[in-house]
Amino acid sequence: MKPDCLFCKIVARQLPSDVVFEDAEVLAFNDINPQAPTHVLIIPKQHVATVNDVADADAAVFSTLVLAARKIATDLGIAQPGYRLLFNCNVAGGQTVYHLHLHLLGGRQLKGLG
Ligand code: 5GP
Ligand code: ZN
Repeated sequence: MKPDCLFCKIVARQLPSDVVFEDAEVLAFNDINPQAPTHVLIIPKQHVATVNDVADADAAVFSTLVLAARKIATDLGIAQPGYRLLFNCNVAGGQTVYHLHLHLLGGRQLKGLG
């Protein structure tokens, strides 16, 4: 855990969140400022700052996050209409929280990327 990291504090239950899924490796919770009717953040429990910081040897974290997102989408009933999975990386990518997270967006028709 990185002591000053917002999402590490959520994992440690030092800060509240609306958890929708949890297993040994990941935590998923609703985004505090949702951009769609479904907007879930899926994060590894272990701290890593950005996509750039994931070591090749740890790349399984990406499939772990995507598989969790797919399961959540299925459980929420949006797998068939469809959904969007998104990683923002660093400033130009729009990243604001520096603990790796996968956005799951759905529940409405999503348009282009901004
Ligand atoms: P980023 O811009 O880094 O890709 O996404 C960070 C996301 O975290 C944003 O969508 C933002 O609304 C969300 N967020 C920031 N702080 C909190 C928080 O304290 N709780 C929750 N649930 N989401 C947060
Ligand atoms: Zn963290």
